[in-house]
Amino acid sequence: MRIAILLVAASVISPASLLTQDGGVANAAGSITPADYIRRLGIIAHDSMAGRDTPSRGLDLTAAWVAREFERFGLAPGGDGESFIQRYPLRELRLDVAQSGISLDGGTMWRAGQDVVKLFGPTELELESDRVVVVSGQDELRREDLEQAVVFVVTPTDGDGRITSAGRRLLFGAFRQNAAAVIGIADVADSVWARYERRTTRATIARPEPSGRAGRAILIVRDATVSDALARHGFDLAAARATSPGAAQVLDIPITITLRPLESEGLSAPNTVGILEGGDPQLKNEYVVFSAHMDHVGTSSNGRCQAAGADTICNGADDDASGTVGIVQLARAFTLLNTRPRRSIIFLTVSGEERGLWGSDYFATHPPVPVDQMVANVNADMIGRNWTDTVVVIGKEHSDLGATLSRVNAAHPELNMTAIDDIWPNERFYFRSDHYNFARRGVPVLFFFNGTHPQYHRPTDHVELIDEEKASRIVKLVFYLGLEIANAAERPKWNPESYRQIVEEGR
Ligand SMILES: [Zn+2]
Repeated sequence: MRIAILLVAASVISPASLLTQDGGVANAAGSITPADYIRRLGIIAHDSMAGRDTPSRGLDLTAAWVAREFERFGLAPGGDGESFIQRYPLRELRLDVAQSGISLDGGTMWRAGQDVVKLFGPTELELESDRVVVVSGQDELRREDLEQAVVFVVTPTDGDGRITSAGRRLLFGAFRQNAAAVIGIADVADSVWARYERRTTRATIARPEPSGRAGRAILIVRDATVSDALARHGFDLAAARATSPGAAQVLDIPITITLRPLESEGLSAPNTVGILEGGDPQLKNEYVVFSAHMDHVGTSSNGRCQAAGADTICNGADDDASGTVGIVQLARAFTLLNTRPRRSIIFLTVSGEERGLWGSDYFATHPPVPVDQMVANVNADMIGRNWTDTVVVIGKEHSDLGATLSRVNAAHPELNMTAIDDIWPNERFYFRSDHYNFARRGVPVLFFFNGTHPQYHRPTDHVELIDEEKASRIVKLVFYLGLEIANAAERPKWNPESYRQIVEEGR
């Protein structure tokens, strides 16, 4: 953990701060109330939004709601055409079971989704090899034997016919030795196999770029499927299971692995973008970007919302309705100012965050204004829970935005909110929300984040657990910070070492 250095020096208050003394500022900040916050949060975290999965009807409804609010506040549209919505394409992939499987020796194909299931790996894979290695113990996982080979792993199961944890370690251990593919041979029970089958054949949503044909996979086959074929090449599976592991065995068998998806197109997902033009003729060409993700993990039917009881909707009240509502409140507050900020402001609510930061990546690669004119990104993800007087702000040490925040924070003791440094550096949260797509393209960022909780990604992440009083104080702090950044004479600057690591080296 890094040491927090909060330098608060009255002498460094910039002339821009004086603008915050304007009566319009107090009025604008005053529009950010707990009652308004929780009312808005109740709309997008409602069961009718069905957990705002990407893509889904609930997500589209949420984006449309944000767009209507942006329009009502008088923002300019920053999406497609003259709209506030920016849509990015997606595709749905489903395994083509007739074309997918494993063939040994040019013989009959073991069908994927039937004789072969996938434990891990891409939807698309084409692999031909004549280097097959069979291993059955940890000692046999040597890179010089396994690298680029198709590795069969004799995998143990427990009394219930499930792969044991030692078995999984063996499978992933072989994978990590850079095997071209890993095929576990496991005598799993029918009920377990049925679950694997469902997972293997389930549709997945992906972004449109060419998926990794060169990707690597861990597949599972059952003893009965492979024992005869392996016996013809001198490998006795029953004997290997009965005796303690020996040396890895190299078999000279041509093998083909094919995973081919059926693809449906026409799917897409929304970001919502509203722009407030700055008041300074020069500086209005620079933009401060406020962002939050409006998507969440949907319902238990998709396997990402971890439901256990009768409630199957992951409402995502904290993750990240809490930040999304913050962005909407900020948009309202900034449009209520008597004097426009000198720089322009982009209010952005993205989707696909939970899928892998898709919406912010699309926005950063298809921006309404050049990325190098974006001077800062302030991102809010999960700001509605935990301690009442503290908010963690990740990324403070990487640019002078940290010092700006400390100064603004000190100037507003009435908020009773202290912005502290990242207290979980090992979790690498800096790389795990939408601000990262700005940071890696050279935009200095700050990430407001209150930490996780037992309801994280569960149906219990409910509106009732949100502390709207606290959240609205955080939004006010972000408002004052944004005003300071938008009015400052100079744009924010990276700390050179951070720039080298995050932007140039990407780590
Ligand atoms: Zn999340």
